[in-house]
Amino acid sequence: MKIPFVDLSAQYKSLQPRMDEAIAEVIANTAFVGFANNPYVLKFQEDFARYTGAKHCIGCSNGTDAIELALRALGIGSGDEVIVPAQTWISTAEAVSATGAQVRFVDTKGPQLIDPLLIEAAITPKTRAVIVVHLRGLPVDLDSILEITQRRGLHLVEDCAQAHGATYRGQHVGTFGAIGTFSFFPGKNLGAYGDAGGIITNDDALALTLRRLVNHGSINKGEHLIEGRNARMDGLQAAVLGVKLPHLQDWVEARRRCAALYNELFAGADLILPSDSDKGRHAYHLYVIEGVRRDAIAAAMQKEGYPSAVHYPTGLPFLQCYAYMKATKEHFPNAFAQPARILSLPIFPELTEAHICEIVRIVRSCV
Ligand SMILES: *Cc1c(COP(=O)(O)O)cnc(C)c1O
Repeated sequence: MKIPFVDLSAQYKSLQPRMDEAIAEVIANTAFVGFANNPYVLKFQEDFARYTGAKHCIGCSNGTDAIELALRALGIGSGDEVIVPAQTWISTAEAVSATGAQVRFVDTKGPQLIDPLLIEAAITPKTRAVIVVHLRGLPVDLDSILEITQRRGLHLVEDCAQAHGATYRGQHVGTFGAIGTFSFFPGKNLGAYGDAGGIITNDDALALTLRRLVNHGSINKGEHLIEGRNARMDGLQAAVLGVKLPHLQDWVEARRRCAALYNELFAGADLILPSDSDKGRHAYHLYVIEGVRRDAIAAAMQKEGYPSAVHYPTGLPFLQCYAYMKATKEHFPNAFAQPARILSLPIFPELTEAHICEIVRIVRSCV
């Protein structure tokens, strides 16, 4: 391959030797575990809260645990139902099941985002929350969804695992619902050097509960008011993220320039191209094109040494693990059909104009 799908080494090289120093410092201080007083975790939490405009940030183990802990903090568990979009990474649904609650899928529309018009029909007396996913880095239609969740008394949780740097009406995603959750998996817009996650909220009581939940229910040593999990962010990951965070906005802008160039060069091609929405500013974690010649495009790219990917190949209701729900294509027409038409092209801040031109030439030769 001429380039990787995501180039993590280019970013590391641009941050050396500051990154090596930061890692060495954590080791010298043996500040490995993210207990409530870990200075690197405390600093990152403060900085990430400021970046998003949220009152609180709680570091945690990964983006999947972040969603599960968010639901637990809201008191959701066995006997409850949670609405989840039918196209997302499996974590969003897994986290619901992990609390003992039942997943209720709702179909997507357009750029694979939950269809607000279908949410109300999925609400039952057991429904407690709606999880929206700003998939690809594009904010969902939050105004329409908030109107529903507020009127029906449901919690809104925003899965922002792909949306660091995305805004809606100029405000960072994750700050509209009760809780916003993030993944810092290495390939995300802001990535650690291992697994890590974050949770943001403006609610003091929820923040306190979340700080307990990530550390066995305990903030003060020896005191366990509730049971929790071992779901702490570790010191090394916090330090790595701390070095990267000051660059995040520049990286998001670089992703947007890549997307703008792709879009310009694709003009007139028989493809559906990604874009900002009415109120949503895209953070382009993924650059996804949509067309009937998807398999031919992917094959041509591979032949010429360029990677591509499909996010995600199967709508969640159609995965084997959810076969018990007996979903049909009539229930979820978009989640059923769209995965066969989508293709994610390489996008990362260091991607060069020359490579984008090459990729567009190859794709255009197929459509
Ligand atoms: C990556 C991702 C997650 C999970 O994050 P991990 O840190 O890998 O656990 C959750 N939801 C979405 C939409 C994701 O893309």
